[in-house]
Amino acid sequence: MCIFCKIIEGSIPCQKLYEDEEVLAFHDVSPQGPVHFLVIPKRHIPHILEAEQDILGNLLFRAQKIAGALGCAEKGARFVINCKADGGQTVDHLHIHVIGGRPLSWPPG
Ligand code: 5GP
Ligand code: ZN
Repeated sequence: MCIFCKIIEGSIPCQKLYEDEEVLAFHDVSPQGPVHFLVIPKRHIPHILEAEQDILGNLLFRAQKIAGALGCAEKGARFVINCKADGGQTVDHLHIHVIGGRPLSWPPG
């Protein structure tokens, strides 16, 4: 079982921000800014490449709502999905990163 599926089943703890039948959101364990949380599907979907339209919409909408609740509405934030090796994905369970609370550089290395 992957590490995020263990978080979903509760065998690994997380700092939960939001949960419904399909979606879980929690703070990243290694935050890259004052705000850094992850939004994941509760069903194990390895990469964005396998995801269907409805769950992508739900994940992104939830990321938007939580970013606003955490104070990112005025100055914004970075919404990121890393995919497979070239995208720098290290956990093979689809997740949206939201990083905010500081200015971020672009482009990535
Ligand atoms: P990726 O590199 O796959 O896009 O991002 C994986 C993210 O998951 C990283 O930012 C990493 O800090 C986070 N992460 C890995 N293991 C855990 C964990 O056990 N708990 C939490 N909250 N975040 C984790
Ligand atoms: Zn998983």
